[in-house]
Amino acid sequence: MKIGTPTEVEAGENRVAMTPDSARQLQKLGHDCLIQSGAGLKAGFADALYEEAGVTVVEDADALWSQSDIIAKVRIPTLDELDRLTPEKTLITFFNPGGNAEGLEKAKEKGASVLAMEMVPRISRAQKMDALSSMANIAGYRAVIEAGNNFGRFFTGQVTAAGKVPPAKVLVVGAGVAGLAAIGTSTSLGAITYAFDVRPEVAEQVESMGAEFVYLDFEEEQADGSGSGGYASVSSPEFREAQLAKFRELAPEMDIVITTALIPNREAPKLWLADMVAAMKPGSVIIDLAAEKGGNVEGTVKDEKVVTENGVTIVGYTDFPSRMATQSSTLYATNIRHMMTDLTPEKDGKVNHNMDDDVIRGATVTHKGEITFPPPPPKVQ
Ligand code: NAD
Repeated sequence: MKIGTPTEVEAGENRVAMTPDSARQLQKLGHDCLIQSGAGLKAGFADALYEEAGVTVVEDADALWSQSDIIAKVRIPTLDELDRLTPEKTLITFFNPGGNAEGLEKAKEKGASVLAMEMVPRISRAQKMDALSSMANIAGYRAVIEAGNNFGRFFTGQVTAAGKVPPAKVLVVGAGVAGLAAIGTSTSLGAITYAFDVRPEVAEQVESMGAEFVYLDFEEEQADGSGSGGYASVSSPEFREAQLAKFRELAPEMDIVITTALIPNREAPKLWLADMVAAMKPGSVIIDLAAEKGGNVEGTVKDEKVVTENGVTIVGYTDFPSRMATQSSTLYATNIRHMMTDLTPEKDGKVNHNMDDDVIRGATVTHKGEITFPPPPPKVQ
């Protein structure tokens, strides 16, 4: 089959869903690869690199979409892109099926198969295709880099002839995939790092990374916050109050706060309130990785950087993976390549869209003229 990757149409999106390396692997599965001219440029992959890897470079989006049987892309497709689908084509991409009824209808009307990367079940076998995790990992790393870029001091403490510099204090709120990546990056830069999560089971992971887990003075303990499937549930009002009291205590001491707290299918909980921002020292930095879902911080402006009256910088960017496009394209293209491996079990260039396979079924949101979202729960954990 012919697998093609177009240039992303969303302004400011730098990632690409196929790299020269992933194309080499896709060809080993018996597929031919196509790329739209210039699609990889912003991620550091020029057309010539694809040509060297045996990829056919096509002139424009028309040629790419019409010649490809399978289209792999990054961003949620526009309705114009979906219009290019036919019943014979398969699209693999982020799709946000839970909030994209119009897109689902359009893909159904076109009779195409769509696999949504955010729907890959979070089971062990599918970790290699888990694009939410690969992108969250990058976002967590980049959050610390972004914080450093806006912070006027070192992370690590130093004693020099020119004076003694105290280490920065960093608090990471939410120790999921992005939070753990932020913790690892922060400790490796030498900051004193603290982390909090409503799921008590992450305390050990946090501590093993050299950070300090923040415990609450709360009788029922943090067990309160564990929901199903490794995700958080909504906290009780009492627990929330204990959490906010602890954050109020920490706010004047912290130089950098990185918030990553999310609860599936809900707006992000507001955890770092205006009075906590006001209590921080001038020059402190907050990176709100939950900005896409409304933000954990009072004062976050989505996709912007603001400086408060007391001199605290609040960053609400939602495109951290795109800001590291070479790395994120490499990991995302690998996620796609693994998905294609599962879709090509005989490695003969023929796709077997096996709806009895938990992973393929879970990710498929439209198939043969039907909307197949939401999927049934996976059989294997
Ligand atoms: P997420 O992005 O939905 O949430 C980020 C973090 O915010 C979570 O750790 C959550 O507990 C935390 N949080 C929610 N409310 C909070 C609050 N009020 N205060 C503080 N923290 C709060 O989650 P994620 O990072 O995508 O994944 C979370 C977990 O899911 C992982 O740690 C893991 O257990 C599981 N997971 C499993 C797989 C797999 O098996 N393949 C892959 C990825 C994640």
